[in-house]
Amino acid sequence: MPHVATADPLPLPTWPPTSPAIVDSIRQAAESGDWGKYAAQASLSLADRLASRFAVEHVRLCASGTAAVELALRAVQVRPDSEVILAGYDYPGNIRAIEAVGAKPVIVDTEPGRWVIDADLVEQAIGESTTAILASHLYGDLFDAKRLRELADQRGIALVEDACQVHGASLTGKPAGSWGHVGVLSFGASKLMTSGCGGALLSSNDRIAQRATLAAGRPSGIAPLSGLQAAALLPQLATLDDWNAQRRTAVARLKQLLVGSRIWQFAEAMPYESETTYFKAAWFLPVGVSRDSVIAAGLAAGIPLGTGFNGFLRRARRRYRTVGDLSQSETCNDRSVVMDHRVLLADLDVIDTIAERLLAIERDLESKADA
Ligand SMILES: *Cc1c(COP(=O)(O)O)cnc(C)c1O
Repeated sequence: MPHVATADPLPLPTWPPTSPAIVDSIRQAAESGDWGKYAAQASLSLADRLASRFAVEHVRLCASGTAAVELALRAVQVRPDSEVILAGYDYPGNIRAIEAVGAKPVIVDTEPGRWVIDADLVEQAIGESTTAILASHLYGDLFDAKRLRELADQRGIALVEDACQVHGASLTGKPAGSWGHVGVLSFGASKLMTSGCGGALLSSNDRIAQRATLAAGRPSGIAPLSGLQAAALLPQLATLDDWNAQRRTAVARLKQLLVGSRIWQFAEAMPYESETTYFKAAWFLPVGVSRDSVIAAGLAAGIPLGTGFNGFLRRARRRYRTVGDLSQSETCNDRSVVMDHRVLLADLDVIDTIAERLLAIERDLESKADA
């Protein structure tokens, strides 16, 4: 066993956050009776404030990020037999959403050394029946939203921007989620703003927003967010920017402390002006290092490490058109190690301890390899 196995527990923040502001907001909605309405004031306020924070004209709240992705595809008129381009590594529900609306996924590789879709390959993949690109910002890595939006506009197709992991991030000052013809947020349990379950659609296009409303309501919502959930989210939107700043500081500190590590190498910096946030801090393990051993050692040291999503690559490759050799998507699938974002809200001395423990895991693996 690695010697870190007996490490003292780390004082990590809990998630969901236990801030009094959230409890107060839920209590207020309960006491005022607002909770018992379809169109609760908390929901109207949340939609308004999201529209302003994310710089979009329209916000439609819904029950999950998963529902939001499917509604987004309907809102941009993805039809049976049309093609939708997505990356070979993505949230697995995204390929299923494409299948759910009857369309055909076209799979392109992620960028070398990164978790996000390769814009060059997207350009090559666009064909006669392509109607949309579905692209996700993953693990703090932001795809080239500016380029993909321009490309989509030139080719007359839609960009669906999955910003479920990056509430509050921006590219060239413009919020992630506002670059797509339609953007998608999740308020699922693990996300940076949470109501346990929840999601939202963002758009500045009147017709897309109108189609989203039609797709989501009959007229009652088929996958609505409740007023109580909206009440839980309102105070989190107010603290989002401060908490994101803290997350960035924590990751910058880890990068600095882990310089020269062979295992804990962060992905390349993004090649465009951006300010990101981190749903997970993530690394690619070098070939030959066992991911299971690294994660087990991390967990034994009290560090919440995991593998990230289980991709859909093997099944999808057999069934659908692919562009590029998908080798980077395989790397994402097989060699990602991710660390839960609540770590990033810990005090900086805890971050220092985590860096020490990550380096101890590396030394331990190397001494075993030498033995
Ligand atoms: C979490 C997530 C989703 C789905 O959101 P839910 O609210 O859990 O349904 C979609 N896309 C990405 C990238 C996610 O991380």
